[in-house]
Amino acid sequence: MAYLFTESGRARLAEVVKPGVLCAFDFDGTLAPIAPQPDQVHIRHGVLQRLNTLRRHAPVAVITGRSVEDARARMRFEPDYLVGNHGLEGVPGWNGHAAEYEKFCRQWRAELSERMGRGGLEPAIWLEDKRYSLSLHYRAAEHRSLAEKQLADLVATLRPKPRIIGGKCVLNLVPVDAPDKGQALAQLLRDSQCESAIYVGDDATDEDVFRLRDRSILTVRIGHAAHTAAAFFLDNRSEVAILLDELIVRLRGVHHQNQARSRAGDRLDGAMTSR
Ligand SMILES: [Mg+2]
Repeated sequence: MAYLFTESGRARLAEVVKPGVLCAFDFDGTLAPIAPQPDQVHIRHGVLQRLNTLRRHAPVAVITGRSVEDARARMRFEPDYLVGNHGLEGVPGWNGHAAEYEKFCRQWRAELSERMGRGGLEPAIWLEDKRYSLSLHYRAAEHRSLAEKQLADLVATLRPKPRIIGGKCVLNLVPVDAPDKGQALAQLLRDSQCESAIYVGDDATDEDVFRLRDRSILTVRIGHAAHTAAAFFLDNRSEVAILLDELIVRLRGVHHQNQARSRAGDRLDGAMTSR
């Protein structure tokens, strides 16, 4: 894992960031700073402006753990692709499984609510129902490691067994066969007919993309980590704005080069016709 803004990182950016690149991002902790409550999260003005500029040069995808409805409401930005619920909601063809995912979540929610209602768990734990997946948050718990242990024990009793995706003070429960973020990005690449992609994320759920190990996908993690499959890292989320500027400059530069080539071609055509 190497820092992105180095010689090797810039060489990979030059390989991947060109016309036909899909620029894909996680939302919480990547495009938007994490807040004490998920409903306080929003993209700040500077990043928003850059995303709107980037969209003029390349398709932009947001792949988030939030539901599509929730993400759209707080994004103040219309990406070309918006995939929710950790990769299972919004990719082409996902509707065929939606009813089944929803049924599993209803069962889990009923069991969890009943168990949480009996007491004995850390009091600040709360259950977020994202319709096709559930999230158990313990950021506000006084004893986070105890809360995490209690939730892990509780979730282990659920049937059918969910796939569990860890996160920052959250356990996400997802239907076992549902596509993950990596599968979602691979499908978006095929559907958009893009030739390459850059993906930026900050959390355990983004490892599904980082693990793709596809030469056409440049993976960037927010923050250095010992155990990650991401190829590159940024020091912190505030460097996302610098990366967006870099993407815009590179894509704009290529656009200008192509325009100049096309003008030169026109001049050559004109000269040949006037002969
Ligand atoms: Mg995140």
